[in-house]
Amino acid sequence: MRRPVIAGNWKMYKTIAEAVAYVDKLKPVAGRARHCEVVIAPPFTALAAAAQSARGSEIKVAAQDVHWDKEGAHTGDVSAAMLVEAGATHVIIGHSERRRDHGETDEQVNRKLKAALASGLVPIVCVGETLGEREAGNTRQVLERQFAGGFCGLTPAEFSRILIAYEPVWAIGTGRTATPEMAVESHRIIRELARREFGEGAAISLRILYGGSVKPDNIGGLMAQEEIDGALVGGASLDVGSFADIVNYPRS
Ligand code: PEP
Repeated sequence: MRRPVIAGNWKMYKTIAEAVAYVDKLKPVAGRARHCEVVIAPPFTALAAAAQSARGSEIKVAAQDVHWDKEGAHTGDVSAAMLVEAGATHVIIGHSERRRDHGETDEQVNRKLKAALASGLVPIVCVGETLGEREAGNTRQVLERQFAGGFCGLTPAEFSRILIAYEPVWAIGTGRTATPEMAVESHRIIRELARREFGEGAAISLRILYGGSVKPDNIGGLMAQEEIDGALVGGASLDVGSFADIVNYPRS
C-alpha cells in the first residue's frame, strides 16, 4: 500500500510573514491528515519560518532546489545541509521551470539527487514531456531519457527513498490537466522503467505524483486511479483553503 503524498509548490510566492500565516491556517485543516503525507515547498527565505510553524503537526517542508556540492563558490545556491538545518525534510529537484529558466540537465538532476539523498532529504524528482514532445509521439522516449540520466548510479535502496512527480510541461500553470488516463499511461511507463532498472520491489513501492493544474475539482478523479500516488500542486496550493481541499480529496 503506497501512502499518497500531496505536495504544494509555492514557487516564487510568499514572504516569511505570509508563509507563517499560511501554515497557521493549514495546521487545523490538514495538519493531522492520516490518509496522505502533506508537504509544502516555500521559497528558500521562508523555509525555516515555515518549518518552525509546522512543528508539532504532520506537515513537512520541502525546498524547491538544492546544489550538489557541500559548499563552495556557487553564488545564489544552497546546499543540502543548509536545507536540513532550516528544517526541510524534502526537496524538489529538476522542476521543468528550473530546467527551462536555468538550463538544468538530467546530469545535474542526478548530482542534486545524490546530494539530497546523502543528507537524508527526500527528493521529489520531476519528469515530463513538453507539448511538442507529446504531439510528436515522444513521451515515452523523453521519460526514458530523463529516467536514465536522472536516476543513474543509484542503488535500489537509494531509489526507494525517492518520490517522482510526473509533470507534463504543457499542463503546468496552463489550466490544462492531463486526463487521468494520460497520467496513468505515463505513470505506468515510469514504473516499468523503475522495475527494469531497480527491480520489482522498488517499482511496486515507488510513489509517483501527478503534477499539472491540479485543482480541488479534479483531484478526486486523479486520486481514484491506482497508479496515481499523490499530487504536486503549484498554483492551487497558494490559497490555503484550496490546498486543504486538495489534501482532503474525496475518498471512498
Ligand atoms: C508545479 O509547479 O509543479 C505545478 C504543477 O504547477 P500548477 O499546479 O500550477 O500547474
